[in-house]
Amino acid sequence: MDALYTRSLLEIRDMLARGEVKPTAVLDDCLQRITALEPDLKATIGPLMAEEAAKTAAELEQSGPDPSKPLWGVPLMLKDCICAKNHPTTCASKMLENFVPFYDAGVVEKLRKAGAVLVAKTNMDEFAMGSDTCGSAMHPTANPWDLSKVPGGSSGGSAAAVAAREVYGALGSDTGGSIRQPASFCGCVGLKPTYGRVSRYGVVAYGSSLDQVGVLARNVPDTALLYEVIAGYDAREATSAPLPVESCLDELKNSRDLKGLRIGLPREFWNGNSEEVDACCRAALDAARDLGAELVEVSLPHARYGVAAYYILSPAEASTNLARFDGVRYGLRDREATELKDLYTGSRSKGLGEEVKRRILLGTFVLSAGYYDAYYHKAAQVRRLIAQDYEQAFAHCDLLAAPAAPVTAWPQGHLSGDPLAAYQLDVLTLTLNLAGLPGICIPAGLGQASQMPVGIQLFGKAFTEKSLLLSAHALSAALPSLGMPRGVPA
Ligand code: GLN
Repeated sequence: MDALYTRSLLEIRDMLARGEVKPTAVLDDCLQRITALEPDLKATIGPLMAEEAAKTAAELEQSGPDPSKPLWGVPLMLKDCICAKNHPTTCASKMLENFVPFYDAGVVEKLRKAGAVLVAKTNMDEFAMGSDTCGSAMHPTANPWDLSKVPGGSSGGSAAAVAAREVYGALGSDTGGSIRQPASFCGCVGLKPTYGRVSRYGVVAYGSSLDQVGVLARNVPDTALLYEVIAGYDAREATSAPLPVESCLDELKNSRDLKGLRIGLPREFWNGNSEEVDACCRAALDAARDLGAELVEVSLPHARYGVAAYYILSPAEASTNLARFDGVRYGLRDREATELKDLYTGSRSKGLGEEVKRRILLGTFVLSAGYYDAYYHKAAQVRRLIAQDYEQAFAHCDLLAAPAAPVTAWPQGHLSGDPLAAYQLDVLTLTLNLAGLPGICIPAGLGQASQMPVGIQLFGKAFTEKSLLLSAHALSAALPSLGMPRGVPA
């Protein structure tokens, strides 16, 4: 029999539900895999949630399989910006090193109610600012395909853990691409739902108008199941959408072609990518055409201002969101300070990392009285134009397709010290957050030059996750399966 960890989430879920394997056995297998891989991979952060997980698994086992719990006994991980009661939530920052929330995030409540067993928090760039997880104040995470390379970011820990088969699925957050880009780099599936679709209650804010919690999993059906569990209205979150969540799980099995589907290719996103990324993604387009899709060229004329607008708006929001980390209310406190002002500056100087400080400075600057109109207001106008570009593009097609990143995973430390170069590489993901739309990244294959995973994104209109998942499923069945990552033992 294949080792348990090689099974997909749906497979293990069904085995558990049929009583073929017990929650404690699945958990033990998962913890063994984690313990074997973590010394090199470092996808998790802080202590494992092993004790709590063992208790949950034993309780589930005691009461027996429950068909009303779609994740009964399934081990999962959470990005470390998502609060789980009585377990540290650090956002990979020294500032929150000792922060232990006394409540669960809305999505965590939903996972627990569905019978999931939470095993670990995953590593990330500090406060979700970054694209390679090298920005974690604790330690970097490796890419399971090549340990000398980055896993992408900021949800790099979740992507690495899922791709390495440490766990069956994980939650991440996506403010400008942080689910889709690491999914692309590690060869797993990443779904960023529509803004407002999944509750942000209990999720540490980066850019509140852009942040969205989503899923990293090994394949599209696993992604769909996790998404359906975490999606839906939450009265405690002001931007939560009061809309029903349609299930696609039953239809997924029969979603085998793309007949009648028009896929738009935004011209701006199919230029300037590396040769291997371009080749892989164009092969995926050929597969889509073979499945019956019609491909049409579309344009997002303001997309080229996306990076500039995003790197004004997201730091602006971050600068106000992170004002709460002042040494008084949360986290690290400078014990040497004797005056209030020194307490603020001392705590923030010691607690926050370089990239976070850079963005707070930038955000405070673009919101300041003298520069608000020139920067913040202009960026907000550009954001509106980008959203309109998407609306106009969707007048000609049902979905859009684009590579997830212009390059494959780079060597560890390669972009440290060059923040602008890193920002530019977010060009293919961040406009979707500016427009608040849903997107999914699926593996398209291995790049010919680097032999590293390449992901292709599909974008949909707001709240069309169901059709997005159905199309992604049909397409991914026609794409090469990547198999087990080379950098970790099979
Ligand atoms: N790389 C982007 C940034 O640094 C996206 C981060 C994210 O989506 N959390 O802001």
